[in-house]
Amino acid sequence: MNARNCPFCGHNDPYYDEMAIDGLTVYYLTCPECECEGPTGRTTQEATEGWNRRAA
Ligand SMILES: [Zn+2]
Repeated sequence: MNARNCPFCGHNDPYYDEMAIDGLTVYYLTCPECECEGPTGRTTQEATEGWNRRAA
C-alpha cells in the first residue's frame, strides 16, 4: 500500500518515522514539506492506512 499525497500541502513523498510509546514502537507518516504527522500505527501499514483515511 502506498501513502497518498499529503492532505494539507499535497506533497507526494511522505516518509515513515517512528517513536516509542510506553516501550512500544509505533510508526507514522510525516510530510517533509509541512511537517504534519499522520496517525500512529503499530506497523507501517497501519500508519499508512491511517494516513490515507485522513487524505481521502
Ligand atoms: Zn504536507
